[in-house]
Amino acid sequence: MPIIPLRPNDRIRMKKEHPCGGRIFTVIRVGSEVRVLCETCKRDMTLDRIKLEKSIQQVLSDKLD
Ligand SMILES: [Zn+2]
Repeated sequence: MPIIPLRPNDRIRMKKEHPCGGRIFTVIRVGSEVRVLCETCKRDMTLDRIKLEKSIQQVLSDKLD
């Protein structure tokens, strides 16, 4: 299985919606667990990295300057 490179400030789109309906998250901290912030409701959550990688649909790497 390919490893998805993740860095703080990367934006990711998840396969499953957050309870608020949002799907875009910002990566805050990366380790064996990854902390992400929901861009829609601004709540953060910490996920096991393996689980997170499985639920990522796409990494939105384009930087919006
Ligand atoms: Zn949310």
